[in-house]
Amino acid sequence: MKLTIHGAARTTTGSMYLLEACGKRILFECGFFQGKRKESMDRNRQFPFKPSEIDLMLLSHAHIDHSGNIPNLVRQGFQGPIFCNHATRDLATLMLEDSAHIQESDCAFINRRNEKLGKKNLPPAEPLYTRLDAQKAAKQFVSIAYDHSFDLVEGITVTFCDAGHILGSSEIIFDLRENGRHVRLVFSGDLGRGNNAILRDPTPFEDVEVLLMESTYGGRVHEAQELANARLAEIINQTLERGGKVIIPAFSVGRTQQLVHSLHDLTAHKIVRNIPVFVDSPLSINATEVFRLHPECFNQSTYEMLRHHENPFGLKNLTYIRSSEESKKLNDRHDPCIIIAASGMCEAGRIRHHLRNNIGDPRNTVLMVGFCAPNTLGRAMHDRSPKVSIFGEEHEVRAQIETIDAFSAHADRNELLDLVRHSTGSFKRILLTHGQEDQSEALASALRVSHPQSQIVIPNLHDMIDL
Ligand SMILES: [Zn+2]
Repeated sequence: MKLTIHGAARTTTGSMYLLEACGKRILFECGFFQGKRKESMDRNRQFPFKPSEIDLMLLSHAHIDHSGNIPNLVRQGFQGPIFCNHATRDLATLMLEDSAHIQESDCAFINRRNEKLGKKNLPPAEPLYTRLDAQKAAKQFVSIAYDHSFDLVEGITVTFCDAGHILGSSEIIFDLRENGRHVRLVFSGDLGRGNNAILRDPTPFEDVEVLLMESTYGGRVHEAQELANARLAEIINQTLERGGKVIIPAFSVGRTQQLVHSLHDLTAHKIVRNIPVFVDSPLSINATEVFRLHPECFNQSTYEMLRHHENPFGLKNLTYIRSSEESKKLNDRHDPCIIIAASGMCEAGRIRHHLRNNIGDPRNTVLMVGFCAPNTLGRAMHDRSPKVSIFGEEHEVRAQIETIDAFSAHADRNELLDLVRHSTGSFKRILLTHGQEDQSEALASALRVSHPQSQIVIPNLHDMIDL
């Protein structure tokens, strides 16, 4: 039984793990690596194994840094089933087609611009995969309910448990039986904070022997969740006083619905006045529909709200924008408004057009609400770089940059440690991935104190672990 760490090693993106057991090659997660453009392109294009030799796949949740490269895997020969939770299947099929569409239109935009600039000798930009590849991948998904153990292949039983991170997000529990040995490997996926406005709390792990855990915020403590709405109101109201717009880069899945839920709350209680709110992302609209289809993933209060025919994802002055013509019309608006657009790290999608049009005006606010990997446009904004590059052009940042980390979909240091504390098992080994080095190291130090009997490892890229 071997586990190879092919991604999210000492970094947060590109999650990809290969499990070899019971004569099968099982891949779990197949995410986009996001970082410096050239390195990202190369790493996403080439797999460190033959995709045709993978027997089957599992997926913890739909976020693109976990699922984004699946259509490329399929394009390069992977034909097996992809197991995940029902909501993850519905969200992932949407997101992958959207990702293909964004890549196609971004490449077309860059090629048109290069032609206009007379840069004819540059090779044309090409997408990693097309919408057709994404549609083909969608046919390989097989969905399973939470807490329902099933035999993946002979000798391997798998259970998905709620990870409370986004709709459908799962911890994956592997019970491996080979040559008279039984090993329980638990993959945490991405873990939520608990006490979420919409979702349930992450499930504590049981009988863990080997734990493969995320450590995005292994060294940080977030603002209290109860402060999130108050901070959001303060930032919106200050921007309104200046007569500016609030631009919020947000993941289409999870963060956008949470923001809409909060704005619903703030306007209902008249803490923020009713100004136009635009969710400018076709994916967010579709994702919100998927949210409504999966009340089984909601916590009790949101479930009740829905049962009483109140729409937790709608508000009076909210417009969901699908077409790119409508999106472009937002450029002509000069009145105060709130624009929520994807992607959260600003590496793709319509948000880049909104930033390009709005970051030069000091009345406006760019509000960062999610994690941004290093070397992304989102991180540059977050770190308050005076100048940023968008579509290869330099722009001066004159807008206010604000950050709220209380909306984070990721558990912080204390929440991660609490979850481990409430879990059971021998914890023979704890492998920390999906974190920048300083964050994983900080969590490792704390775990060495709380679990002195465990071997705590922060694996390097392509490290192979004998289970
Ligand atoms: Zn995630």
